[in-house]
Amino acid sequence: MIVSGKELSARLKAEMAEQVTTFPMKYGRVPHLVVILVGDDPASVSYVTGKAKASQVVGIKNTTIRKPDTISEEELLSLIRHLNDDDTVDGILVQLPLPKHISEPKVIESISKDKDVDGFHPLNVAALWQKQPCILPCTPKGIIKMLKTAGVQIAGKRAVVIGRSNIVGLPVAKLLLDENATVTIAHSRTKDLGDLTRQAEILVVAIGRPRFVTEDMVSEGTAVIDVGVNRDPETGKLCGDVDFAAIEPKASVITPVPGGVGPMTICCLMENTIECFLKRQESSH
Ligand code: NAP
Repeated sequence: MIVSGKELSARLKAEMAEQVTTFPMKYGRVPHLVVILVGDDPASVSYVTGKAKASQVVGIKNTTIRKPDTISEEELLSLIRHLNDDDTVDGILVQLPLPKHISEPKVIESISKDKDVDGFHPLNVAALWQKQPCILPCTPKGIIKMLKTAGVQIAGKRAVVIGRSNIVGLPVAKLLLDENATVTIAHSRTKDLGDLTRQAEILVVAIGRPRFVTEDMVSEGTAVIDVGVNRDPETGKLCGDVDFAAIEPKASVITPVPGGVGPMTICCLMENTIECFLKRQESSH
């Protein structure tokens, strides 16, 4: 079964759009997401455009602020401080990566944790690992939604996550653990990766290498989530970290690239913005 993130996200966004239409009557306004884009990297421009389009579908206000890549770190931090103090802003997202002269950790830390719709702020990350209420990072949140929608039972399963980045691998592993899977995290120093992945009942791959996971690395009936976004070196088209054509017949469920985890990430960003908005409404009454 191919789990279409495109279809699931369209359904969830339609539900959110319905919910948002009730907000002007109840709260006097709709949620407001501010996206900051530094420079003009084509991939970042396309991600930011996708976020603006999704906001339009859901009916939330989106402001995209574009800054040249010559902006100083202090100017960017000052802009974020201004947005933190702006009561009409519910979510702030700075599109990564940033130019080398700007510290990404400093920027992430400068965003108010209550407006951190990406869920990258150290206080949100700490809360996630301590099972406290927090803003969940969008990609891992989307992955769990996809598994559940596909009817994959997570509890008690052997899950293998390849990749240990702060934004995908580690938080996915934590969310799977919280769903009572038994989780192994693999990385570039893991020996005999195939032996490990063949034992997986749920396999999440977040490496960033085209078709890295081959057919022989996956057992019959595994649920395969492909997070990777790469350019196929032969065709130049988008492809994942998994050899989709070879593995699809073996997998119980599998996500395609494009149209899998990517759309769900943006969908969860919309959900996080609405959650931040509602929390701020509650605390102001
Ligand atoms: P990252 O920070 O570069 O992390 C890559 C991880 O893969 C690292 O933990 C690395 O191990 C591991 N790795 C690299 N080579 C390996 C190998 N040969 N064997 C086993 N593990 C290996 O990347 P990321 O930010 O997590 O992103 C991963 C991929 O997901 C990228 O293609 C990215 O574009 C994509 N992505 C997609 C979405 C979406 O919404 N669809 C969102 C975020 C990211 P070490 O830790 O040992 O170096």
